[in-house]
Amino acid sequence: MKIAVVGGMIVDGTGSPWFYSNIYISDGIISKIGHEWEERPEVVIDASGQVVCPGFIDMHGHSDYSLLVNPFAESKVRQGVTTEVIGQCGFSLAPINDWSAEYLEKTMPDHIKGHVSVDWRTMDEYLNKLEERRTSINVVPFIGHGTVRMNVLRFENREPTEEELEEMKGYVREGMEAGAFGLSTGLIYPPSSYAKTEEIVELCKVVAEYKGMYASHIRGESDTLIEAVKEAIEIGEKSGCRVEISHFKASGKRNWGKTKVTCRIVEEARERGVEVAFDFYPYTASSTGLDVLLPQWALEGGVEAMLRRLRDPEARREIRSYMEDRVRRGKYADKEVYDIIRITDFAPNRGIQGKTVAEISKEWGLDPYETVFELLLRSEGRVGIIIHGMNEEDLLRVMRHPLSCVGSDSSCYAKYGPLSETRPHPRAYGTFARVLGYYSRERKILTMEEAIRKMTSAPASRLRLFRRGLIREGFHADLVVFDPRKVIDRATYLDPHQYAEGINYVLVNGEIVVEKGEHTKARPGKVLRFSK
Ligand SMILES: [Zn+2]
Repeated sequence: MKIAVVGGMIVDGTGSPWFYSNIYISDGIISKIGHEWEERPEVVIDASGQVVCPGFIDMHGHSDYSLLVNPFAESKVRQGVTTEVIGQCGFSLAPINDWSAEYLEKTMPDHIKGHVSVDWRTMDEYLNKLEERRTSINVVPFIGHGTVRMNVLRFENREPTEEELEEMKGYVREGMEAGAFGLSTGLIYPPSSYAKTEEIVELCKVVAEYKGMYASHIRGESDTLIEAVKEAIEIGEKSGCRVEISHFKASGKRNWGKTKVTCRIVEEARERGVEVAFDFYPYTASSTGLDVLLPQWALEGGVEAMLRRLRDPEARREIRSYMEDRVRRGKYADKEVYDIIRITDFAPNRGIQGKTVAEISKEWGLDPYETVFELLLRSEGRVGIIIHGMNEEDLLRVMRHPLSCVGSDSSCYAKYGPLSETRPHPRAYGTFARVLGYYSRERKILTMEEAIRKMTSAPASRLRLFRRGLIREGFHADLVVFDPRKVIDRATYLDPHQYAEGINYVLVNGEIVVEKGEHTKARPGKVLRFSK
């Protein structure tokens, strides 16, 4: 297919000011930037008055399941995302063994159940399956450390023996051989959280042999934030991996302002030659599972063991006293914690989605702790939540920092079908458009060119995607054409299934996936496989 994009203001992804030119695309590649083309285009896109820039790279995504359910990546591609990094926060769907496959089948989110059957084991088989599904966007796979640990140690809270560590290394090696870009951890989520620093260093040494990346949801984003950032850097330094700290933030009122310190720590590490950087999403609320409120010991052994403990009066009392203590110690100091937690996913009763724990507690006539336990028990442990716990000053500091890039921390959703059943964090639909429309155009926190750099060339060079992320002749034609006066996010906490506005055209590998703001149902995405 030969396409000409004419008359637009080109923002090339480097951060340089926009300039006028035409872009000519042939067979998926930007073949010329200029004003004359010897070839005859089959399609001409009139981009006058609009910005033409590289497709956005979502540095931190979770579409491991959802691209198998719905390959169109609606919520993402409609905000200009053309490439998504998956396998994040320690959780990937491969490589797995029989035990893990069965565990995944049992614990997958309700809206995914019945739409995906876990019939792969190796990373290669999983990536082939994604390829066969033919997705609308490109995919950059990571290996989840939690997944690797689950294969070998299930949910046991202990160190691996030497043989077990070797077995884990084997899974990492297999994943890297198949083309994963690196290893991710989720150090607040079992079983990833059961690993000591040294275990991760050892596994990252394997990743370093392949020149891969270590991406981490660090061990604490509130009271233990600073130690957790240092641990991520230490893992990079000792293993030789480059490091990406995921969704960089400071949670809980008494930790607000700590990003001043953590940004400095990252800068100092770079001065020593450690390649470390971070990503952010442009919201002050985070999204996770309700079980994060429970102590780590209560989660040992997996979901069924947790539910057993909640049914056992004595264990339940102990869990409760841990939670009461946390509230007393002011973990979320300013407000009653249950006022700032909103339920987003609760399959047994979708009607309560959107309400806070405090509201549900009133409705049910239970105190907030009992409400949390009931929610977990009734849903067999699967309750999605949003916590309003961050400060905008920290967010803006991270956003402005030259080392940050943009990551949605979301999977793909759609306004129809199974992916419309839960109520996601609005970042799923809004992240990229919000940075461009709200934080850049309206608030002037970043220039448009700098915002686009953080969505394109910055993640591309971090991931070593050297033929994407810039508008250059010979590069893959992943492109976005948007209206700089209109681009904006529409998704809100209460009404998140709203596509972004102002994104008029999106091209992935030279094919039109969004045309005049609508999905064409084209699926030209590729599974990108890393090679050093
Ligand atoms: Zn995370």
